[in-house]
Amino acid sequence: MHELSIVMGIIKIAEDHARAAEAAAIDEIELDIGTMSGIDMDSMEFAWTQAIQGTMLKDTVRKINSITAKAKCLDCDTEFEIKNYYDACPVCGEHLIEILQGKELKVRSLLVS
Ligand SMILES: [Zn+2]
Repeated sequence: MHELSIVMGIIKIAEDHARAAEAAAIDEIELDIGTMSGIDMDSMEFAWTQAIQGTMLKDTVRKINSITAKAKCLDCDTEFEIKNYYDACPVCGEHLIEILQGKELKVRSLLVS
């Protein structure tokens, strides 16, 4: 499962940081997940529950910031919310667009103690 390898990657990043900071525990982790990151949140939830067992994240509070995907039309500069790569500009119908945000998948912050 795609989400499991992503979750394990996140856990590794968090544990590496916590060890580098000589922290005993990770109290909180905050993630940015874009609506076009390709993550299925149900699968992510399931993978998370499985993957954190026996890691420093098993009791960590998790916060998720959902980043709504936005694009800009390269033709008329309109900025709009986007759900798919092939969405057209709602103003001029152009498909030449630039994704501004929404592909994020990252650890925004960690609270360790
Ligand atoms: Zn346009």
